[in-house]
Amino acid sequence: MAKKVLIIGAGIAGLSAACYARMNGYDAEVYEMHDLPGGLCTSWKRYGYTIDGSIHWLMGSKPGTSFHRLWEELGAVQDRKMYYHDAFYIFTDNHGQEVTWYRNADKLEEELKSKFPEDEKNIELLCNLIRKFSNFPMPIDKPYELYSIFDFFKMMKIMRPFFKDLKFSSRITIGEFAERFSNPALRELVSLILGERDFSLLSLLVTLGAMHTGDGGFPQGGSLEFAKAIEKRCIELGAKIHYRSKVIKILESEGKAVGIVLENGEKIKGDYIISAADLRTTLYDLLDGKHIHPKHRELFEKVKLFPSMVQVSFGVGKQMNLAKNATGIWLKTSREFFKERKIDWLLVKDYSFDPSFAPPGKSVITVGFASDDYKYWEKLSEEKEKYAEAKEKIADEVIEEIEKLHPGFRATIQFTDVATPITYNHYTGNWKGTFMTWIITPDKEKKFRNIPKTLPGLDNFWLTGMWVQPPGGIPSAALSSRHVIQMLCKKDKKQFRSTVPDT
Ligand SMILES: Cc1cc2nc3c(=O)[nH]c(=O)nc-3n(C[C@H](O)[C@H](O)[C@H](O)COP(=O)(O)OP(=O)(O)OC[C@H]3O[C@@H](n4cnc5c(N)ncnc54)[C@H](O)[C@@H]3O)c2cc1C
Repeated sequence: MAKKVLIIGAGIAGLSAACYARMNGYDAEVYEMHDLPGGLCTSWKRYGYTIDGSIHWLMGSKPGTSFHRLWEELGAVQDRKMYYHDAFYIFTDNHGQEVTWYRNADKLEEELKSKFPEDEKNIELLCNLIRKFSNFPMPIDKPYELYSIFDFFKMMKIMRPFFKDLKFSSRITIGEFAERFSNPALRELVSLILGERDFSLLSLLVTLGAMHTGDGGFPQGGSLEFAKAIEKRCIELGAKIHYRSKVIKILESEGKAVGIVLENGEKIKGDYIISAADLRTTLYDLLDGKHIHPKHRELFEKVKLFPSMVQVSFGVGKQMNLAKNATGIWLKTSREFFKERKIDWLLVKDYSFDPSFAPPGKSVITVGFASDDYKYWEKLSEEKEKYAEAKEKIADEVIEEIEKLHPGFRATIQFTDVATPITYNHYTGNWKGTFMTWIITPDKEKKFRNIPKTLPGLDNFWLTGMWVQPPGGIPSAALSSRHVIQMLCKKDKKQFRSTVPDT
């Protein structure tokens, strides 16, 4: 009889774990507290418009890349049109000054040199590194935990042409690299691109390198459609998904995970348990803090968490093409949005390019900014009226800012929707409403290169998802689950296999 794997959470990680478990002959059952697949990778409908809550760009959208194979296995990209903007971002200061951050490094170099001639040398260095890392071979086929000495040698050989640049770029942060530029505006832009200046320069180069090769597109239909395709693959492979099924405990016996308890009191037995849910909930609530790996403890105590965000979305009665041909446009502000906090930049996205997002001739605009003050939101949300008022005020201020970019914007608005860190926490249970996870700075990289996916004193249990594959993101979620099932197969002395669905 096939062994049974119980998976907690139907985000991208949970769904992927179920797919790979089925491909390898395990029975797989997923328990999800919400009534939808996708977790953070989601969209929601309002008055015939679709508001997207996740994907800006998808690593592996381009055929032939290592992540594309993963998406094919999960049935997520077949027959799915991908949209590619000419520019990654446009930065504007609202006084007519605009810098276009092209995806293509040659065009980017030309643009930056024309706007910041005094920084020619460092612009050249940056763009050469982007071109170099566009060929970077992502070692994703096997989890590090299963590497043999032979695999290490193989990897070293593949990585040899990158040694010098890897050494340089993995030891400094994006912010430190940005300091090399003499123009303060350019310093600011470089620090802003990944939303976090403390990431290593390497993470920036890998992202921009992928963009340079033509990867990093936007999947037609958006995040929920993408998640639903993986849900469909799961079901076709024979996995069962139980929605509105919140897990409140993981059962253990003699040092082994043996089952789960649902909120309604139902107990379900399984041979293996995989948690694809929030790490803090898993360790401290579902397992009562009995099995904490020292590295996990250290992460919670000492490592910075990626901030949550506020997203204000508008259904608008006309197409304005606000973001031109870019993924998004960064708008300089310095407005006090809430709690007398200055917000320097707003990220404006316009979904006019995808006709499935709005009725003909209309569009959806989203405006986001980082917010790491979870306590403030938590307190505010205790008083419904005050919380609603704060959201309304933020939306109003955002509208004023967009008016500067596009006079008359207010008059086109048909409805407004505001998501705060509380919204992200409420729908997915993620700690502090985060949607990426740990910011592993170069000084901590060696220590946290691999976050443990198993726990001390608890056999037959695995962790998967963005929390154990920092900094998070959709590819990380799927990849960590592929790796976990590879580890599970190794434990059962099975050869791991993956398949691509017949189209
Ligand atoms: C605004 C925004 C923009 C983003 N942009 C991008 C992007 O451009 N590219 C990219 O790659 N990524 C992006 N991301 C990040 C990406 O969406 C996430 O990192 C990824 O989807 C995380 O997947 P996961 O499966 O690990 O976790 P989650 O999506 O959090 O899934 C966890 C699931 O577990 C469920 N769960 C939790 N507790 C329980 C319980 N007790 N019982 C049952 N179920 C439970 C939750 O409901 C959820 O469905 C973005 C996210 C946001 C919010």
